[in-house]
Amino acid sequence: MIADAVSDLRARVGLPVDPARRGPEPLDRFFTELSLSHVALPGLTLGGVVEHLRAEGVPIEDLGDPTAPLAGFLFAAGRIGIAFVRADDTLGRRRFTAAHELGHAVMHRAKMGRCHVDADIVEANDPTLEIEREANRFAVELLMPEAVLRARAEELKREFKVRACPRLVLAYRLASELLVSREAMRYRLKALGVGDDD
Ligand SMILES: [Zn+2]
Repeated sequence: MIADAVSDLRARVGLPVDPARRGPEPLDRFFTELSLSHVALPGLTLGGVVEHLRAEGVPIEDLGDPTAPLAGFLFAAGRIGIAFVRADDTLGRRRFTAAHELGHAVMHRAKMGRCHVDADIVEANDPTLEIEREANRFAVELLMPEAVLRARAEELKREFKVRACPRLVLAYRLASELLVSREAMRYRLKALGVGDDD
């Protein structure tokens, strides 16, 4: 179901998974397709999000403790959709959060109401809450397509003329190509059984 949601979105944008294409997944294309914008706020908090939305002319009630720190936040109502990420996070982390919020926007709009609060987003683990697990898997599928990872593992073996392909080496290389964190990449490679145990 999650893989379907990701491939539907890819089809809409005309970007099927293509291991021959180098570089990171162009997240902005997916955002545009869904009429979502993304905003990076330093020290992302509930109060900061509410303040930003009000400044944009979105009438919104107080959502709780304004000082509460957030990992991410999605606002979606009518034609307005904004994913908030933490400006202080590393690029890989911000991209994971953005893709996670994209997952909520694609899969959970009916059940989430106007706002979805992410107090914590764990990149290298499977969250307990189903909705969070789904959003994480969406992000993982979108940012780190299995076919790309498998193709790069084979390339690495050919390049170094070795039979084994250490997962750590592969994770470093792929994390910098796809602009995700090394932790997220190692977790993904391990889950897929791509690369050899270090
Ligand atoms: Zn979430």
